[in-house]
Amino acid sequence: MSMEAQPALEPCMKVQRIPALTDMREQSLGHGSGLLIRVVPPELQSSGPLSRYGRDWMAFLFVKGRYSIKNQQKERRFIMANDKKLVEAITSMDVDFAQWYTDVVKKAELCDYASVKGCMVIKPAGYAIWENIQKELDKRFKETGVENVYMPMFIPEGLLQKEKDHVEGFAPEVAWVTHGGLEPLQERMCVRPTSETLFCDFYARDIQSYRDLPRLYNQWCSVVRWEKTTRPFLRSREFLWQEGHTAHATAQEAQERTEQMLNLYADFCEEVLAMPVVRGKKTDKEKFAGAEATYTIEALMHDGKALQSGTSHNFGDGFAKAFDIQFTDKDNTLKYVHQTSWGMTTRLIGAVIMVHGDDNGLVLPPRIAPVQVMVVPIQQKKEGILDKAFELRDRLTKSGCRVKVDDTDKSPGWKFSECEMRGIPLRVEIGPKDLEKDQAVLARRDTHEKIVVSLGELEAKVEETLNQIQKDMLERARAHRDAHTHEATEYQEFVKIINEKPGFVKAMWCGCRECEDKIKEDTGATSRCMPFKQERLSDKCVCCGKPAAKMVYWGRAY
Ligand SMILES: [Zn+2]
Repeated sequence: MSMEAQPALEPCMKVQRIPALTDMREQSLGHGSGLLIRVVPPELQSSGPLSRYGRDWMAFLFVKGRYSIKNQQKERRFIMANDKKLVEAITSMDVDFAQWYTDVVKKAELCDYASVKGCMVIKPAGYAIWENIQKELDKRFKETGVENVYMPMFIPEGLLQKEKDHVEGFAPEVAWVTHGGLEPLQERMCVRPTSETLFCDFYARDIQSYRDLPRLYNQWCSVVRWEKTTRPFLRSREFLWQEGHTAHATAQEAQERTEQMLNLYADFCEEVLAMPVVRGKKTDKEKFAGAEATYTIEALMHDGKALQSGTSHNFGDGFAKAFDIQFTDKDNTLKYVHQTSWGMTTRLIGAVIMVHGDDNGLVLPPRIAPVQVMVVPIQQKKEGILDKAFELRDRLTKSGCRVKVDDTDKSPGWKFSECEMRGIPLRVEIGPKDLEKDQAVLARRDTHEKIVVSLGELEAKVEETLNQIQKDMLERARAHRDAHTHEATEYQEFVKIINEKPGFVKAMWCGCRECEDKIKEDTGATSRCMPFKQERLSDKCVCCGKPAAKMVYWGRAY
C-alpha cells in the first residue's frame, strides 16, 4: 500500500503501517476496510509502547472516522486492562512474522546488532541458551567416543583449493586476510568458513596406521561466511557452531557414523528443544560442497517455513584422496581413510524462537531454559514475603531447578510480562494471601494455566509441571508440523499448495535436477530432504510425470 492512501492526520500523531491484517481480533471489531494504520494519540505516546490491542483498536476507530473524546476514554480503559502488555509490546506474529521475530530477539534481550554489519552481539540471555545447547550436545557427543580439539581460524589459500567442489562451494562467501601487520602476506589466508581442509591437512600427518583409527574429533568455534542478507541467529556473517570431523578405516564405518550423528541431532532436537524434525537425505543439488552424501534434519517454523537444523555428511574417500590421507591397514596395504563431518549452529536458537514463541514473546522448553522458574513475590514489602520467596528459591535450587527471584521494585504485572517475554517456563507467585494459606501459584508460560499448590509439595509439583511443559511443547509443535504437511500428486495442485498453504509438501520426484530447478523457479520451494521414512504417493514425478524415484519434502526455507 502506498503512503498516498494515508488519511489526513493531526500532525502530533505518530503513524505506523501494518502490512496485513489477519488477526481475529480486528475481524471481531468489524475491521474490513483494508486500510491499515496504527494511530498513537499524543497523550499516550509518552507512556511507552502501547499494547497492540490498543493500537489496533484505535486504528479501527480512526479508520471508521469515529475518533472522539468518548472513544478515547474507552480506549484508555481498554489499554489499562492490558496494562501488563504495555511493558513489552511486540508485533503480532500473524500480522508480520519477520517483525515479530526481530521484536522477540530484541525485547527478550537475546542479541543486539554489532558495528560490524551482519554480525551480532549475543547477550547473556541468548548466550546462556547456547551454553545449555553446548553442554547437552557435548555430553551426547562424548558418549559416542568423540573428543574435542581446536584448529587455527586461518586457512592458507593453497589448502582451501585442494578439494575442487569444496572451494567452489565456499568461494563466494569467504573472507580473506591479506596483510600481517603492515606487510602483505605471501599467500593470503581465509577466515575459516568450515574446517574440513584444516582437519584433512592435520589427519594426513597424524594418521599412519589402522591403529590410529577411527579419529573422532570435534571442535567448538566460530566460523565466518560473508552472507549478503543477514538475520540474527538465522544467518549472520560470523556464527558459533560445532563441527565434528571423523576418519575411519572403512566406508561402512563412515556411513554408520554419518547416520549416528544425524540421529543424535534429531533426538537432541526432539528431547531437549521440543522440536520435531524430519530426518532424511539431501538431493545432490542441495548436498554439501565436496560430500558424497549429506543428511539433514528439517524443522518447520511457526510461519510454515522450513529450517535446516543440523547436517551430517559422508565424504567417502574424496577428501582423503585430495589431501593424501592414507593408512597402513592390517593386511599391510596402504588405504585411504573414509571421512565424515557434522555440524549444528547458533541457528538452533532462531529455531527455538520460531517454533515455540507466541505473541507474548519467547517460550523456552524447560530443558534448555537458562532460568526455568522465576519466583515473583506479590506485595513484597509486606513482612515475610521476600524471605519466603528466597526460601522457595533455595528449596527449588536444591531440588535441581534453575531458579531466580524477581525482587526488583517493578509491579507484579510488569514482572509477569517480563517473565513471559523472556520465555521463562514457570512462574511461582507468592503473596500475603498465599502465605496465610501455605500455598503458592504456579503459572505456565506455554498455556498460561495457573495451578495452586501447597508449599509442602512445591518441589514435586514444579518438577512435574516442568516435565509436562516439555512434553506438551513437543506435542504442540508436532501437531502444528503435521497440520502443515500436505501432499500433492499433480503439478498444478503442488504449486497451488506451495503458494497458498505454508508448510511442507510431500511429493514424488523422478530424481532429475531439471525438475528440482523448475520447482524452485516456479514456486521458490526447494527440496528439503528425501525422508528415511519413504511413502509411495504415486508412481509419477509431480513435476515431469516420469517414473518417480523418491518421495521428497518440499518447502520454502530460511
Ligand atoms: Zn521429474
